[in-house]
Amino acid sequence: ARKKLSKLKKTPAVTKDGTAITLLANIELPDDCPAALEAGASGVGLFRSEFLFMGRASDIPSEDEQFEQYRRAVAAMKGRIVTIRTLDIGADKPLDQSEHTALNPALGLRAIRYCLSEPQIFLTQLRAILRASAFGKVRILIPMLAHAFEIDQSLAMIEQAKAQLRELDIKYDPEVQVGAMIEIPAAALALPMFVKRMDFLSIGTNDLIQYTLAIDRVDYEVAHLYNPLHPAVLQLIAMTIAAGHKAGIDVGVCGEMAGDTKLTRLLLGMGLREFSMHPAQLLSVKQEILNSDLETVVPQTRKILRAMEPAAIAEAVQALQTM
Ligand code: PEP
Ligand code: MG
Repeated sequence: ARKKLSKLKKTPAVTKDGTAITLLANIELPDDCPAALEAGASGVGLFRSEFLFMGRASDIPSEDEQFEQYRRAVAAMKGRIVTIRTLDIGADKPLDQSEHTALNPALGLRAIRYCLSEPQIFLTQLRAILRASAFGKVRILIPMLAHAFEIDQSLAMIEQAKAQLRELDIKYDPEVQVGAMIEIPAAALALPMFVKRMDFLSIGTNDLIQYTLAIDRVDYEVAHLYNPLHPAVLQLIAMTIAAGHKAGIDVGVCGEMAGDTKLTRLLLGMGLREFSMHPAQLLSVKQEILNSDLETVVPQTRKILRAMEPAAIAEAVQALQTM
């Protein structure tokens, strides 16, 4: 089956009814780009920039070092989109293992909350990303947003970083798009706040499930309760896709759900057109897309979204596989 999959590398990801789907890769470091290209990704949907910072609490990468890494990724992707997520540090990805541990780190000072509390670290990263945007198609993605003021402060800091670069005559893409991770239920329930301010949305299902179901994503004792098919999770995902498209902006999924072939049709049926995943999953998902027909997938997905009983949902998702 492996060999057959590799033949799909250059095949466009199009459903049987002719709907084009964008398949992007999740990366941790620029060195992951060759694997993304090898899998036929049309770009990077999630560059988890915190991997440049982890284990370096007392030696945070400088603007130049970050710029060099972002530019490397942009160059490696040869003109394809590279979505760089700003520092998503904290909780399961601590900057410093020995740092003070909050009782509930997943609910604590992580991601954008951390960045807004450390403006110099954030501005340094934003300048580095903006500088890289002069070399290709860069998008900026902000994690863990929940409040309007967090969006506004983030956008203001991006403008500040641009102004600092202009001051020094350093080039950047003035059209660089800025998007929000939708990974806190409050965000998915307040989409008008996001779509009016953002250029695109990316659903982080890993955290969205964690926060919707109140299940620590790294606690094995509750792992059996971590269920992507919980009706509440499905509603939040479907609402986000619909609201983004209604507002005319792109919506992707970059959490693990995007790479799970058992869920590909369900996400297609919800209207998802952009999937970002580990490169190793990309061709299997593409194969699933090639075999899917939205004419049958959409009505079945509507049925799933109306169902509230886990058994009925599981059965209907199972049936979706064989349509
Ligand atoms: C997510 O939360 O789904 C996501 C893609 O981000 P991370 O797994 O890095 O938190
Ligand atoms: Mg997340």
